[in-house]
Amino acid sequence: FYFLRTSTPTLTLVIQPDGVQRSLVGKIIARFEERGYKLVALKLVHATEAHLEKHYADLKGKSFFPGLIKYMASGPVVAMVWQGLDAVKTGRVMLGATNPLQSPVGSIRGDFCLAVGRNICHGSDSVESAEKEIKLWFPEGVVQYTSVMESWIFE
Ligand code: ADP
Ligand code: MG
Repeated sequence: FYFLRTSTPTLTLVIQPDGVQRSLVGKIIARFEERGYKLVALKLVHATEAHLEKHYADLKGKSFFPGLIKYMASGPVVAMVWQGLDAVKTGRVMLGATNPLQSPVGSIRGDFCLAVGRNICHGSDSVESAEKEIKLWFPEGVVQYTSVMESWIFE
């Protein structure tokens, strides 16, 4: 059997204020659970602008950066870490494209939203950024445990 190890890739997922306000938290969590990913960290938090500037440091200088920080700080978000096979690459496919209008139906952005500045969910774009984001959102670390389903999800 393939067993999940602490080194198995993880995806940091942040449901943005629009996703929380629109009560989409359960549906988004269900998609990752149903696909077979394992939840190893979860919190509801009203992030500060300083925290979000660190989270989006790569985008500093973009015209939409100030608006993005204000929007992300406008209400609580749900931060999560999901672990499993190809978590970052497949997680991004499950999210869809940055612009919801270019996101396929069946993806989170393709099913739930229309505007690039209200696109429901953040997902790490690489294994390295996922690790950086875990340290930022979960300095206390993630939880390691064995799910009884693992031997039915992985061969
Ligand atoms: P992604 O979230 O798909 O990784 P980026 O990291 O490039 O996309 O951008 C982060 C977030 O900034 C996007 O999800 C979106 O909410 C916002 N954003 C990106 N591009 C634009 C834009 N042209 N106008 C407004 N907001 C944008
Ligand atoms: Mg990004």
